Amino acid sequence: MTTGVAVLGATGSIGRSTLNVLRRQPDRFRLVALTARVARDELARQAAGFGAPYHATVESRGPECLVEAATHPDVDVVVNAVVGAAGLNATLAALRAGKRVALANKESLVMAGDLVLATAAAGGGEVVPIDSEHSAVLQCTTGHPDALARLILTASGGPFRDWSADKVRGATVEQALRHPTWQMGRKITVDSATLANKALEVIEAHYLFGLGYDAIEVVVHPQSIVHGFVEFSDGSMLAQIGYPTMELPILYALTHPERLPDHGVTRYDPVAAGPLTFEQVRRDVFPTFDLGVQAGRAGGTMPAVFNGANEVAVAGFLAGRIAFGRIPELIDAALTAHSAIPAVDLPTILEADRWARAHVEAGQ
Ligand code: NAD
Ligand code: MG
Repeated sequence: MTTGVAVLGATGSIGRSTLNVLRRQPDRFRLVALTARVARDELARQAAGFGAPYHATVESRGPECLVEAATHPDVDVVVNAVVGAAGLNATLAALRAGKRVALANKESLVMAGDLVLATAAAGGGEVVPIDSEHSAVLQCTTGHPDALARLILTASGGPFRDWSADKVRGATVEQALRHPTWQMGRKITVDSATLANKALEVIEAHYLFGLGYDAIEVVVHPQSIVHGFVEFSDGSMLAQIGYPTMELPILYALTHPERLPDHGVTRYDPVAAGPLTFEQVRRDVFPTFDLGVQAGRAGGTMPAVFNGANEVAVAGFLAGRIAFGRIPELIDAALTAHSAIPAVDLPTILEADRWARAHVEAGQ
């Protein structure tokens, strides 16, 4: 029996890594459906190489193609590797159809955590994280029914980890895109430089593992070798370790709780890798981190506003319209102007997202 897989966002960093993983496991997985926003030729080539029956781009077929791929009858697991709020609808559609969602698109959980979990419960689907920190937590807790007491997510600290606050505010696009340890798409790379990414991950962890915000901590770990720690109620702590590669968490999200033999990942050598170091997050230098965590704590529509405001501010920075230091200012202004209401349904969440985008557009 092979597992049918859909890859949404197949031309991106996570999408391509997923295809590498699938190529090494032809007996276990069958690629059924592929989508991307543009790049029709690349997608057609990939689909032909795998013999995948369905492929479509948003450019040619509209956003409906994500839902078509995610709910295709031959698909068992949907790898959601779309960047941003554009991935939410497909996450919900896949869960409604009872699929496993191997989720890279953390924005789905940040915008609509309660709705995503309720949809999974009602539709018989499940969310399994691809994000390396959350995969680490899942790997450490799987097989340990003991009560989970605390999580520590690690952060590389990004390219500006040891810069002064003044220098960070004036950072250029080129500097922000030079990530020290991970090769990723442009939006998440900027999110790693502001630490917005780590705030999104704290919210993601809150929904995935059901812990309160006081029990989710973040520590800077420049080597990106320890991906996450979990602490149990007896005080014991486990961590998941490996060289930074997304192929391992992608494969695990496809097979959890099982592990498949895989020789595509370089084995960790503790002596060759050298010392592992840990530091506090410099919250004063990276204010976006606290803004995001506060939005998570506030709940309701606030995380969707944080996410939408962040997406537009990052796009403005990447387009050269605003300085790096304006990103947290614009997010802060949107969060301050928003009155959170319960995120009861999709229209409420999408309206909060639309409002946040318009607020930041107007403020640029
Ligand atoms: P990327 O920019 O490299 O790829 C994004 C993909 O999404 C592309 O295939 C693109 O065509 C598609 N896409 C973009 N906008 C779309 C739209 N409006 N509708 C449909 N498809 C659209 O990004 P990435 O680095 O692969 O990240 C993808 C997601 O995975 C993000 O949510 C990111 O936070 C998360 N993630 C990435 C990494 C990583 O190492 N790259 C690690 C953890 C989590
Ligand atoms: Mg991560």
